[in-house]
Amino acid sequence: MSLLSVIVPCYNEEENIADFYHELLKNGSFLEEKRIELEILYIDDGSKDGTVAEVKKLRAEDERVHLLSFSRNFGKEAAIYAGLQKSKGDYVVLMDADLQDPPALLPEMYSYIEQGYDSVATRRVTRKGEPVVRSFFARLFYRLMNHISKTEIVDGARDYRLMTRQVVDAILSMTEYNRFTKGIFGWVGFETKWLEFENVERKKGETKWSFWKLFLYSIDGITAFSTVPLAIASIMGVVFCFVAFLLIAVTIIRKLLFGDPTSGWPSLVCIISLISGVQLFCLGIVGQYLSKTYMEVKRRPVYLVKEDI
Ligand code: UDP
Ligand code: MG
Repeated sequence: MSLLSVIVPCYNEEENIADFYHELLKNGSFLEEKRIELEILYIDDGSKDGTVAEVKKLRAEDERVHLLSFSRNFGKEAAIYAGLQKSKGDYVVLMDADLQDPPALLPEMYSYIEQGYDSVATRRVTRKGEPVVRSFFARLFYRLMNHISKTEIVDGARDYRLMTRQVVDAILSMTEYNRFTKGIFGWVGFETKWLEFENVERKKGETKWSFWKLFLYSIDGITAFSTVPLAIASIMGVVFCFVAFLLIAVTIIRKLLFGDPTSGWPSLVCIISLISGVQLFCLGIVGQYLSKTYMEVKRRPVYLVKEDI
């Protein structure tokens, strides 16, 4: 018998815990045919509602349910990492608790693993039910990201992914603190089959991602998988030096030919504002990388466990 680990990060998902469990089992009939055992790891990311109690209720009836509870909210990336570390399965699948990752896809995903793929990933081809502004910026992010990073990050890719133990171990070998899983999947490589599906709206509860949280997350993604912004800062520095030299030459020549080097303070104010803006912008870019390095060298744990059942 082989083992399939299902990892479910949960943050305030009390309404979804039981629904998810039943929906998963309903679609899990292929597991018996294939002689695969199941373990379900609910990773409670410091929920403040009854999530933990709901999982414990399931656990009382079903030994295959496990609970790992964090001491506070560490974020979905930390929950995924904890789940992967905890999983014992020969195959591991990551799924959201809100049923936005349809369990009905599992049999098909597994069939590709049988065909020899190392990992089966999913992407949603529509963003139905999502605010227009959010979709627009999401698309923009993916376009930008794929221009400035060597690691491919697929637009619409979900974290819903079935992997073999080999891929899981590869991901776990990346022990970085700033974890951007969408990039890590691409970075480790392996043979990946992509499945597409129409966006499913969240069953109950609400999304944990505000626009601001997503914006900060996108900056995490960029700094974690590209150093191009640093190069842009250097190039801007060179360009502005070049322009400054030109202006100096023009001013000197004008003084020599026409005896009039200055043409008032408005131009000066504009130039000072522009240059100081560019300087602060570049300093900000450097600061972003410095802060990530700072967090990385502290070597703090990615998450802390309160309860492990
Ligand atoms: N999640 C988590 N920690 C967080 C935020 C979210 O573990 O800090 C979980 C959440 O419970 C859900 C999954 O990550 O199972 C996806 O979150 P959500 O549905 O809010 O994101 P969306 O689908 O809107 O992108
Ligand atoms: Mg969701």
